[in-house]
Amino acid sequence: MTELLHMKDNYIKEFDAKVVEVDDDYVVLDQTAFYPEGGGQTGDRGWLTDGSEEVVVLKTIKAEGQVRHLLGDMNPFQVGQPVHGRLDWDFRYECMRFHTAQHILSRYLQHNYGLETVGNNITPGKSRADYHPLESFDEDMKREVEAGVNEIISRNIDVEIRFMPREEAIAYLNERGYQTRYLEMVPKSVKIFRVIIIGDYDASSCAGTHVANTGEIGGIKIGKTKNVGAGKRRIYFSLLPPQT
Ligand SMILES: [Zn+2]
Repeated sequence: MTELLHMKDNYIKEFDAKVVEVDDDYVVLDQTAFYPEGGGQTGDRGWLTDGSEEVVVLKTIKAEGQVRHLLGDMNPFQVGQPVHGRLDWDFRYECMRFHTAQHILSRYLQHNYGLETVGNNITPGKSRADYHPLESFDEDMKREVEAGVNEIISRNIDVEIRFMPREEAIAYLNERGYQTRYLEMVPKSVKIFRVIIIGDYDASSCAGTHVANTGEIGGIKIGKTKNVGAGKRRIYFSLLPPQT
């Protein structure tokens, strides 16, 4: 019921909204640009103010069908009150760069090594994704993947957000050979899919936040990897700043 402003525009840093529900430590708004934790991406943080008092938003989550802004102090807001929200933009923008980088890394590993992405966690400073089947990941492969992914990133590819009817989205992804296995598990009540299209390199159904051009990512550096069982391997990666 909260309108999610970031679904169409990932670059909204501030917004106005109205309080629709309150509790001691959270508020629900009629609309928000704060990303609620989900799909592997950590929830946004920032500040909410009614013009006099500013309260820290520690995290944004989904719970019981609501988007809740978890507050650092006792909730001073009241239902019906207008508020102004401001994202911790450094934190969010790093999530965007990490998330688009993860899509490219996943596509690269699918296309070149036949690997499937089976999990991800997008958090500033320590993002990671899990791949299968991947028993080992030696230094040569690490350098090869890093160079390959960074070459794609350096092409400055525009990233598009497109909304498609469910069946059309699945067909679009299937035709192009992109990963779709998990889409069948999305509840049938979801009729419109949000597809993140990275030029003609990758497309993926995703509700997360992304940069508008791969050039904003800079590059990635692959860190340690570890076996997480059942033929799956977790790859940690960090970001390199864009060349200016
Ligand atoms: Zn995603």
